[in-house]
Amino acid sequence: MSKHLVVVGAGVIGLSSALLLQEEGYSVTIIARDLPAPFETIDPQEQINYTSPWGGAHNRWIPPNPTTGENTREYALSQATYARMSALNKSDHATSGITFMKGIEYLEAPPPDYISLTADRASELNIPGFRLLEPSEFPDDRVKWGCEYDTWCVNPMVYCCFLLRRFAIRGGRIRKRSIRAPVEVFSLPASELGFPDNDSTKIDAVVNATGIGFGDPDVFVTRGQMCLVANACDATVTRQNADGGWCYCVPRGFDGGTVIGGNREPDNWATTASAEVREAILRGFAATYPSILGAGGELNVIADIVGRRPTRKGGPRLEGEVVKGAGLVFHAYGLGGRGYELSWGTAQEVVKGVRQYLAERVV
Ligand SMILES: Cc1cc2nc3c(=O)[nH]c(=O)nc-3n(C[C@H](O)[C@H](O)[C@H](O)COP(=O)(O)OP(=O)(O)OC[C@H]3O[C@@H](n4cnc5c(N)ncnc54)[C@H](O)[C@@H]3O)c2cc1C
Repeated sequence: MSKHLVVVGAGVIGLSSALLLQEEGYSVTIIARDLPAPFETIDPQEQINYTSPWGGAHNRWIPPNPTTGENTREYALSQATYARMSALNKSDHATSGITFMKGIEYLEAPPPDYISLTADRASELNIPGFRLLEPSEFPDDRVKWGCEYDTWCVNPMVYCCFLLRRFAIRGGRIRKRSIRAPVEVFSLPASELGFPDNDSTKIDAVVNATGIGFGDPDVFVTRGQMCLVANACDATVTRQNADGGWCYCVPRGFDGGTVIGGNREPDNWATTASAEVREAILRGFAATYPSILGAGGELNVIADIVGRRPTRKGGPRLEGEVVKGAGLVFHAYGLGGRGYELSWGTAQEVVKGVRQYLAERVV
């Protein structure tokens, strides 16, 4: 008989996990306070804690540190995600919300992980389409290192709606509600979860994909402000300045315009956009990549975007916890500023954890 699982959360992590669990043959329900919807209908104040609509979202290849090994786990997750994004882009090109394009990096003060990123190292790391830029290709002489590679961007809500639809058409159940703790799910009646009308149906495992978890002291928010412009752009471009500042753009495709961003503010809870930050981001990016201005020579601003990256000291929590008398809670939260680029790799970890728990439990 099929095992019944519940995924709490319908951000990019919950949706990817639910789909992969379904592919494994499990019977899955998603419970979430917020569900994907057209971006234009998501409330910037009420739904600010639903991070997935406010993400860029692009994949940047961030190499593991060759000496300390830092970022090795995340790098593997990003490679797994890239493979799945490529496959989806081929199979569902017109509907998935995914666009493949060049990624460009400009660094004013490159750290060792970038300096050691030669063509050979990029080939070892399997970075597709990698090329070091010539200094003549840098936007100004403050930039000391640059590269380009092949990568993907998504229009977040087109992509998340696509995942939700796929989940539903494959028999997944969706419930819009808020819960107090993952363990609560084990006590909900089957009818509440859309399982067959039989109160003895048992939930075998719950996935906690709530972004920030439940009261984890290591989790904090990192505010990001971006500006949505109507201008098209032919690449996703990121610049890291020597003073720690950033600017980047993510073309969203699918009539989603381009987002231009550039700040990360830990523990800043402000929900409204700052006009000064908007000006600085737009000015900095236009100077770095003037071709975004197009023939009109200006940026056509549509809206400010403010979001809260669900960040966790020590990195994402990807582990199972067996709750006595209830079952497995697999935690998959705290993805910070990388939820999209690590999503499918994270979902694979969820499947592995659930499969192992259920196999051992039967024995
Ligand atoms: C400005 C900005 C730019 C970004 N750019 C990028 C980028 O370029 N690339 C990238 O990879 N990432 C980017 N990110 C990060 C990315 O958006 C996040 O990492 C990702 O969206 C997190 O997804 P999630 O599913 O973990 O959480 P969320 O999207 O927050 O989803 C959490 C889900 O859990 C539900 N939930 C929470 N609590 C409860 C509860 N008590 N009961 C029921 N349901 C609950 C919510 O309703 C929601 O459905 C960016 C983020 C910001 C803010």
